[in-house]
Amino acid sequence: MEGPGSGNNQIVDAHVHLLPGKLSEKVRAFFHEHIESELAFPLDHATVLEMLAGSGIGMVWSLPYAHKPGVAAGLNAASAETARRFAGNAVQVVGGATVHPGDSDTRAVVREAREKYDLKVLKLHCSVGDFEADDPRLDGVWQFVGERRMPVVVHLGHAVSGRTAASELEPLHRLVNRFPLVRVIIAHCGHRAGPQALDLVEQYPGIYADLTPVVTEPVEVPAGRVNKLADKLLFGSDAPNTAIGIEECLAHIRSMGLSRAAEAAILGGTARRLLSEVL
Ligand SMILES: [Zn+2]
Repeated sequence: MEGPGSGNNQIVDAHVHLLPGKLSEKVRAFFHEHIESELAFPLDHATVLEMLAGSGIGMVWSLPYAHKPGVAAGLNAASAETARRFAGNAVQVVGGATVHPGDSDTRAVVREAREKYDLKVLKLHCSVGDFEADDPRLDGVWQFVGERRMPVVVHLGHAVSGRTAASELEPLHRLVNRFPLVRVIIAHCGHRAGPQALDLVEQYPGIYADLTPVVTEPVEVPAGRVNKLADKLLFGSDAPNTAIGIEECLAHIRSMGLSRAAEAAILGGTARRLLSEVL
């Protein structure tokens, strides 16, 4: 008998942001300033999780992100607290960690997140934090996450719109060649450079992608390639800061005409496998 949120047939939403109060309000204010559309979720964590549970989500990866040096350790502590708060809930919250290249000891921040707080996923946000994924100050981090097989969700684009240009995928070549053990998940499948992001997923064993929409825009990728690469693709909603509701988000994946196995991988299999391999 499996406990709540542990069923293997339940959907994993691998891109959610349950941020601490003040920060979540700041992020929401940013969205109100930059987009016209109504957002699909309120900020309250319990309500967001209830809405996701209603659509069959059994697990979320909650990804914090540091916009400046010095705040990551506090965000990581808060992330662990959020995961604890909802333990036993219908939706299991997998706490994510973050780090900023300007932190005084980046490796120590991530090591503490993994060892003290038991956080299993790392998030890097290159536009919010204003850096490149292969920033040399993150070398110790890449070394560490490679050894511990921690998946790292990276938002590579620098545009305020949340979009990524093909040229912004470039640092990944250097990164995986220097740190072949890393598991990088390209957030939003590098939208609007989705096909080029899939090229990287295909080319490198350590590169994955999530199919999370960008505010109002679903990721545009050819279904045939998604079908073929499904074991390296993850589902994500970006709740609560998205205009696309969870049902619409799921319908987008389900309307692609994927094989059952491919759909199952994207809606949870890939995410669960990555998590199970973390040391
Ligand atoms: Zn996001």
